[in-house]
Amino acid sequence: MVADMTSRQRVLAALRREPVDRTPACNPTSVATVELMDLAEAPFPDANRQPELMARLAATGHTELGFDTIMPVFSIIQESSALGCKIQWEQKDNWPTVRMREPIWEKPEDIRIPPDLLQHPDTQCVLKAIKILRKEFGDSVAIIGKTMGPWSLGYHCFGVEPFLLLSLDDPGKTKLCLDKLKEATVQFGLAQIEAGADALTLPDHATGDLVSGEYYARYLRDLHIEFAERLPVPIILHICGRTVDRMEYIAQTGMAAFHYDSKNQPAESMNIVKNRISLVGNINNPETLYSKGPEEVRQEVFKNLEAGVQLVGPECAIPLQTQIDNLKEIPRAIKEWHHQHTTHN
Ligand SMILES: [Zn+2]
Repeated sequence: MVADMTSRQRVLAALRREPVDRTPACNPTSVATVELMDLAEAPFPDANRQPELMARLAATGHTELGFDTIMPVFSIIQESSALGCKIQWEQKDNWPTVRMREPIWEKPEDIRIPPDLLQHPDTQCVLKAIKILRKEFGDSVAIIGKTMGPWSLGYHCFGVEPFLLLSLDDPGKTKLCLDKLKEATVQFGLAQIEAGADALTLPDHATGDLVSGEYYARYLRDLHIEFAERLPVPIILHICGRTVDRMEYIAQTGMAAFHYDSKNQPAESMNIVKNRISLVGNINNPETLYSKGPEEVRQEVFKNLEAGVQLVGPECAIPLQTQIDNLKEIPRAIKEWHHQHTTHN
């Protein structure tokens, strides 16, 4: 038996695949909902742009939902805004997005990381929110930051289609783009660590439906190894979709964890990664969390725990209209499962 742990200890141990008192409930991506925005009086779009509101909304993931982590970076566009992308900030019920029909760059030579990337209000907002949360929660809860990988930044700055076409036509130029963009990933990541983040989610949207496993190996594996070396906290890689064809390569990166999608079965995924990287996931969003009930959520939680998945949570940023009762069921089901297992042993 492992002695009782704080949420922070539990998460950090699970990211190192060390013993835990129970599996942590972890959200590497957003669990913000419209209901939580009302509760905290911290609605979008302001909660994406004002540090106090960002921190307040993020805190509800722990105080209301009972997760062991707090993750304040709800969107995927904070640093893209600082890079100069045009942002559609939207309203309370919608995610901010990059206007990808108005790309800012066309070729590798156009890429320029602004010297004041980290002074921009939209990157500052994240850094200040992390500081506020660190001060408020001390050592009790794991605070997770987020820095976007160069493949995702390529989509945002060049447009998805032009970037994918470039990757087909000219691997050399694509690699040059990734190499230049990676400095934004590292800079923003290091600044969040300095602000107090315990771990970083690194989404790099080489998603199952757009990009193959072979592509991952060619373009991203070495870069991801470099991130694991240059960012001195546990890194949680996030890629959506069916990804079993690249999990072998992902397991080689030295990253702490892979945040995986429900299109992959827990047991088959654990078999591929073979304890070289922790898995986080993989409760289905669009069907289970969004449109089913606590009973279905519980079954998916159990399936992950039975496979030995180290951290359990939603597969990706949850839909803003998700019922909070379904989210509360995740930590509840974890505790129940562990309770049953200790009494049986
Ligand atoms: Zn995702």
